[in-house]
Amino acid sequence: MRVRLENILKQYDELEQVTLTGYKGRPALDHVSLDIHDGETMSIVGPSGCGKSTMLKIVAGLEMPQAGKLFYNDFDMTNIKPQDRGIGMVFQDYALYPVMKGKGNLAYYFQMHQKSEAEMEARVRQTAELMGVDFELLLGRLPDTLSGGEKQRVAIARCIVRDPLVFLMDEPIVNLDAKRRERTRIEIKKLLKKFGITTIYVTHDQQEAIFMGDRITVMRDGVIEQVGTFDELYYSP
Ligand code: ADP
Ligand code: ADP
Repeated sequence: MRVRLENILKQYDELEQVTLTGYKGRPALDHVSLDIHDGETMSIVGPSGCGKSTMLKIVAGLEMPQAGKLFYNDFDMTNIKPQDRGIGMVFQDYALYPVMKGKGNLAYYFQMHQKSEAEMEARVRQTAELMGVDFELLLGRLPDTLSGGEKQRVAIARCIVRDPLVFLMDEPIVNLDAKRRERTRIEIKKLLKKFGITTIYVTHDQQEAIFMGDRITVMRDGVIEQVGTFDELYYSP
């Protein structure tokens, strides 16, 4: 799925705006256009407050822009409800349902959609296998008893069972310790390649952006400064 932002303007209410940048009244996204190709991972990198999360929320439909349009392929998604966008999201804080075991976290979606237990079981097993996670170990435990990396794997699995069209990740490994971060980012990258799903990967860490992204978007103060592959951004004359 190709994802295209066209001239997106997002301005939060000035009174509510947290002044991360010390400069109130600046739009979070100031007429931003970006074309993300089918199947690619696009990293979005930039300092805190530059508009990365806002961009994800616009793509997810969790925030509405004041101007501009969003397209998935040739479909205008600007006014489509979040639950009808076919997106999967992974956040830094995992957002697993705390009173459900891993499997319950995955099963919830199937219960909501009145799918059969057998269908759910098959799809969850298939997902665990694809991800190379231990189905019983990982899915039979409450989120509190899982390590950060394991939680993140359940969170990713929960997205993948939904078979999303677009994958949105907001600093998914920022809360892991350095060693797990390294391992988890390798795992995530492998998974994304395996699924070939269009992904937007937000991070404040330049090295991580370079590692994860087929291309990298560099943002500052609500605008895009640069877009390109690693070679284009760092080795072009
Ligand atoms: P980043 O993800 O790069 O840290 P954000 O997209 O969260 O940046 O924020 C961009 C700008 O919008 C910042 O100035 C921030 O304070 C502001 N902002 C973000 N979310 C809200 C909100 N819900 N209400 C008001 N202002 C917000
Ligand atoms: P539905 O898909 O019918 O909305 P859910 O109850 O599973 O059913 O989801 C409730 C809301 O939370 C929806 O807006 C859904 O899109 C969103 N949601 C839940 N989990 C995820 C996830 N992992 N990624 C993206 N959105 C999610």
